[in-house]
Amino acid sequence: MNDLFDLKGKVAVVTGANTGLGQGMCKALASAGADIAGVARRDCSETKALVEKEGVKFLEVIADLSSTEPCERILKEVLDAYGHVDILVNNAGIIKREDAIDFSLESWDSVINVNLRTVFYLSQVFARQFVKQGNGGKIISTASMLSYQGGIRVPAYTASKSAILGLTRALANEWAKYDINVNGIAPGYMATNNTAQLRDDEKRSEEILGRIPAGRWGTPDDMAGAVIFLASKASDYVNGFTIAVDGGWLAR
Ligand code: NAD
Repeated sequence: MNDLFDLKGKVAVVTGANTGLGQGMCKALASAGADIAGVARRDCSETKALVEKEGVKFLEVIADLSSTEPCERILKEVLDAYGHVDILVNNAGIIKREDAIDFSLESWDSVINVNLRTVFYLSQVFARQFVKQGNGGKIISTASMLSYQGGIRVPAYTASKSAILGLTRALANEWAKYDINVNGIAPGYMATNNTAQLRDDEKRSEEILGRIPAGRWGTPDDMAGAVIFLASKASDYVNGFTIAVDGGWLAR
């Protein structure tokens, strides 16, 4: 039974690996036995220590995903270090909060570029490698509650994360024939940098907490079960689906 979730011998690439949910997912995939390549704009030493504690390898790949420019280099660095790759987790993302009436195109482009444009291109670069290797692969993207809901003051973020839900389905449909599973994880309200502003706002924080059936903010460790499932053999017949890890938020 445990073999279903065993990632020994697999190589997983996680973007946005230095903090928050990306760090949590690196740790989780490492605990299931995968070697990890962490992609981030800056030093990943904290994540590296957490991953190596699990007895697997960690490769740091420094890259700015605000453009697609580093995507081929990321793949090359991973292949140079590990020789193959099995799992891509598109997790890096940004959020900009501003009333929609004033929201600048500059903010729009920066959010769409990191959260959507680069996710598409990086997925394409890795899918081509999976096809070349000939034994399938797993692509997992971080969606959001705003893949399902409109949100307030975050129009570009909502647009990008709603698009991630659709892109996940679209890529899954075309790539299932290569044994590539494309799925998503939609985190609820998690205690990371992404939600620091919300948690600092007492009123908003109370409103949000009051709506979460689990009665608490999520943590990076709460991502572990879903990411290991979607990265492992256990999900070989799961295609184009986005799993909510939200303490029940969407069920309300
Ligand atoms: P975070 O801000 O701690 O992490 C974001 C990560 O993305 C960081 O590692 C950051 O360095 C990386 N990143 C941002 N821009 C980048 C760029 N240009 N190049 C390379 N890396 C870049 O917040 P988080 O909550 O851990 O966010 C991770 C993902 O989860 C994001 O996609 C976010 O939208 C999503 N998410 C978070 C929540 C939440 O409640 N925290 C909820 C739903 C979805």
